[in-house]
Amino acid sequence: MTTIFDKILSGQIPCDEVFSDNKCLAFKDITPQAPTHILIIPRKPIKSLKDITKEDQELLGHLLLKGTEIANAAGLESWRTIINTGEEAGQTVFHLHIHIIGGRKLSWPPG
Ligand code: 5GP
Repeated sequence: MTTIFDKILSGQIPCDEVFSDNKCLAFKDITPQAPTHILIIPRKPIKSLKDITKEDQELLGHLLLKGTEIANAAGLESWRTIINTGEEAGQTVFHLHIHIIGGRKLSWPPG
């Protein structure tokens, strides 16, 4: 099934791009939950963390590393890295994505 993120990857839908390479794309969330709210998605169409395999190990490390580089470039001292997995956990787009959220005090535990 094609998701909104597939359409962003193919250029059908525009995004506010932050970073791009041959493995991933990072862009600003359309409904930011904090002053900085960036999504990092793999170009590979993986639905969620439920669907990863050993083959994705390097890619997942790459996404996390880019998350740190992007958070540092945004000047964040603290941030939260979130991967919602499955509907009950709050996943609404079924193309794997990492949220980088920061720039304000964040509460815990999540709702
Ligand atoms: P999830 O709830 O699946 O973890 O996160 C999906 C995120 O995608 C949400 O934070 C939502 O605001 C964001 N989002 C949904 N559609 C679009 C879109 O068309 N463009 C951008 N930039 N973000 C989107």
